[in-house]
Amino acid sequence: MKTSKFYISTLREAPSEAVIASHKLMLRAGITRKLGNGLYTYLPLGVRSLYKLENIIREEWNGTAEALEFKPTVIVPGDIWKESGRWETMGPQMLKAKNRGEQDMVVSPTAEEAFTAIVRDGLDSYKQLPVNLYQINTKYRDEIRPRYGVMRGREFIMADGYTMNADDESLDESYKLYEKAYFRIFKRLGLKIIPVRADSGAMGGSGSEEFMVESPIGDDTLIICPNEKCGYAANVEKAECAADESVNKNGEKPAKTDLAYEMVETPNVFSIEDMEKFFDESPKMFIKALIYRVINSSLDMTGATGADKWKRVSDPAGDYYPVSYACVLIRADLDVNEAKLAATLKASEVVLAEDEEVKEWAGAGHGFVGPMTSKCPLIVDWSVIKNNEAQMHDAIAGSGKDGYHVKHVEPLRDFVPYINADVRTAKEGDKCACCGSTFYTRKGNELGHIFKLGHKYTKSMHVTFLGQNGKPTEPTMGCYGIGVDRTLASIIETNCDDKGIIWPMSVAPFQVCIVPINYKGTMKEVADKIYDELTKAGIEVLLDDRNERPGVKFADMELIGIPLRITVGDKNLPNVEFKPRSAAEAELVPAENAAQKAIEYVKAELAKLSAE
Ligand code: ATP
Ligand code: MG
Repeated sequence: MKTSKFYISTLREAPSEAVIASHKLMLRAGITRKLGNGLYTYLPLGVRSLYKLENIIREEWNGTAEALEFKPTVIVPGDIWKESGRWETMGPQMLKAKNRGEQDMVVSPTAEEAFTAIVRDGLDSYKQLPVNLYQINTKYRDEIRPRYGVMRGREFIMADGYTMNADDESLDESYKLYEKAYFRIFKRLGLKIIPVRADSGAMGGSGSEEFMVESPIGDDTLIICPNEKCGYAANVEKAECAADESVNKNGEKPAKTDLAYEMVETPNVFSIEDMEKFFDESPKMFIKALIYRVINSSLDMTGATGADKWKRVSDPAGDYYPVSYACVLIRADLDVNEAKLAATLKASEVVLAEDEEVKEWAGAGHGFVGPMTSKCPLIVDWSVIKNNEAQMHDAIAGSGKDGYHVKHVEPLRDFVPYINADVRTAKEGDKCACCGSTFYTRKGNELGHIFKLGHKYTKSMHVTFLGQNGKPTEPTMGCYGIGVDRTLASIIETNCDDKGIIWPMSVAPFQVCIVPINYKGTMKEVADKIYDELTKAGIEVLLDDRNERPGVKFADMELIGIPLRITVGDKNLPNVEFKPRSAAEAELVPAENAAQKAIEYVKAELAKLSAE
């Protein structure tokens, strides 16, 4: 390809809204161009890398994951979303429209429903399972705050695979094939991936794994165990840590008390710091009680304190409480993790209650909420009670009356949990529950996700097959997604310098560029000859035949990030300059050897990225 025939459209400056390297460079290099908020067009240069990336995913999913490509529509009937129950629960992320016949339509934000509906038709027997299909296709999510260019766009491309399996064993197999394919894909892209399991192998099976890339602009916080043998890494929204003992200000473990709990007047004591001063004790001796408003909990809390006051809505996908309340008890030096709490309560969201609500459900204001006087169910963190054993003794807590606390509180004796669960936020310095090493944290960006869905969709959408025993059976499902654009942006984010992109060979838009200082006379002859030799050898070459100053051509080729540059200048002939984009200096090589050397360089770079 010659630049005169290609669409090179570089910018000296990135628009001011671009703040991260990949976003700036994608716009400056002419890879993408913005058409609207969260809407990016891939220009021809970008398309070349994008398709290479898609093909790597294709090869690994066809091969390693043993999947078959299909092509569902992007616009799907709203009816299938109503069947699964997500028409309501997906929220404003989902772009809905009506067609001329007033039928509800959805622009696919993901495709579990479409896959389930498609495979449901014609599924009879266990002999047809597993079904393992994927697509690489456009998705749309009406993200509140699209940002960082294609990292979080509204329209984006997802590679999404789905399996329908006869049983858990078969699902395990499919899951493992995809897991292996993911490692190979990211290896071929030169990306260092942190696999993050929802639950580590040591603590039980893994039903979900996120593939993260470390990034200072990452949306996720990862809790990582430094012990490579252990390998525990988890999203902070799920991370567990080892229990650490509750100790008093002298570092001693408090003894169980026989004294009954007792009210203490505590004027002007509102915060944990105030309590530390007033009681002259460590916060590890205090039980913090917080009232949470719980949205859309699908737990059945019949009989729980206060539950008779909540409205319960019946729904085909399972009954739920649109609004309920919970009183969370946790050791006062720790923080409640709202994602873990929401998961415990099977809720879509939990929010700290407002003053009025705290009064209603605790009988007292913030700071005086008491374990013994709560009017809603107690969710007790493992730092207070675990495995039916009190982890704190002789503790101090709120009393349920403004201006008073209680001392000599004994968990289990004075209150019992409605649910006892791990809801604390694990943080840097906490110990790994598997091996005891000290955690560190990193910011991460999720590039892909594999997930065992189980019967969620096959149940709500009524899918059955005749099992080996001749009985109708509900299949189980897995889903596997990779954000294609986000992965492309992450490759740029981790492979760039102040001059531009440094593409890994596997996804470079062109593998080699040839820059004649002047495209005429001997320089043209030499450049054309190298170009022909490389093209014949199947190398993707861009020859910069523009009538531009050499400085402009160099700057463009560096910005675009082509991995190898061959410069043909009359001063150096019969030698030419050979410069890998990642090298500081150019090397002079005889023009007649340049093509061969370039072929070897391209092969060697590709070999480094091989997954074999
Ligand atoms: P996030 O937490 O980043 O919103 P998600 O959990 O909603 O991601 P999934 O539903 O698991 O994402 O989608 C699979 C993949 O699609 C993600 O791992 C991510 O790489 C990509 N993805 C999701 N939303 C976007 C988006 N708005 N723009 C670009 N890629 C996205
Ligand atoms: Mg999302």
